Amino acid sequence: MSSAIGSRPAGAPAGQPAAAPAFPKIELHVHLEATVRPATLLAVARRNGYRLPADSVEGLAAVCRFRDFAHFLSIWMVTTPALQTADDFRQVVVDYAAEAAGLGAVYIEGIFSPAEPAARGIAWEAVFEGYCDGAQEARERLGVEVNLTPDITRAFSPKIAEETVSWCARYRDRGVVAVGLGGPENPPEPFATAFGLARALGLGSVPHAGEAAGPASIRGALNALHADRIRHGIRAVEDPALVVELAERGIVLDVTPVSNLRTRVVAALDEHPLRALRAAGVRCSISTDDPALFATDLSLDYAMAAHLGAEPRWVFENGVAGALCDAETRARLRRIGEEFDWTTVGPPPAPLIDSLR
Ligand SMILES: [Zn+2]
Repeated sequence: MSSAIGSRPAGAPAGQPAAAPAFPKIELHVHLEATVRPATLLAVARRNGYRLPADSVEGLAAVCRFRDFAHFLSIWMVTTPALQTADDFRQVVVDYAAEAAGLGAVYIEGIFSPAEPAARGIAWEAVFEGYCDGAQEARERLGVEVNLTPDITRAFSPKIAEETVSWCARYRDRGVVAVGLGGPENPPEPFATAFGLARALGLGSVPHAGEAAGPASIRGALNALHADRIRHGIRAVEDPALVVELAERGIVLDVTPVSNLRTRVVAALDEHPLRALRAAGVRCSISTDDPALFATDLSLDYAMAAHLGAEPRWVFENGVAGALCDAETRARLRRIGEEFDWTTVGPPPAPLIDSLR
């Protein structure tokens, strides 16, 4: 596994050629707080008077060599608080949309965790206004459609979860389309009421499950939270009946191959369950999850996916199927996929694959 976490813009390992030309991509699973590249994060932290666990790009890279999923969560908790103002949140969306668009992204569902800054005393309005302003700017200035799918954080109480949902509903007309469930993968069932409220208010359900936790968490997400998609879901492979159910129901999994290596929920490149899921007919989209913390980008994640047999067109079509967008946007995305000449896409660049071994 590469240990060069956080120290490069990703996609092009030092001394290696840049990734293949961009083909259309849909990204459904990216935590906006963790898209801020190290140099920018250091500048934002300085501006806000926040002490990061390191004060250089190299130092942050060292901090981000994750031992396991719990270690990753602990680093998340000491890096993401650098973002504090509505303008920070706006800028995060615009910067990431620009980066992703440069790599072919045409549609993004961005995640943020509003209860965390709210618990630190930042107004809920500042968080939502900032991210929604960023999504609007990305749409208008960069031509990238960004919808928002804030996470309920499992570490907080069901009451805070319901408060999160009601804030999401207030911003439905500004691009908030669903709620997710993130943080430590405790059982999802205690959040059934919050997700019921979300559904009643017209919001979709996109919980994390089956990443660090096993198949039971995926079943809980489907049955108790009525998931429209599953974030990760890769541990479904441990339960053949569940794989069949996912395939038959056409549930899209938001798979994040590089993230799974970095947090060590998957031990090695060729052990990733994506190949088996694809062979079993489970629809998988491909995303970066936390690109700055994992030193990845869409090119690297798509290269790994292609190496595992998930070709770009299939991935794009699963993104179209899984996107929680309006009918007009879905039709536009479908047209992009139909009009693109996918035969021009070559195999994944060997240097990118080698950087993951
Ligand atoms: Zn995630």
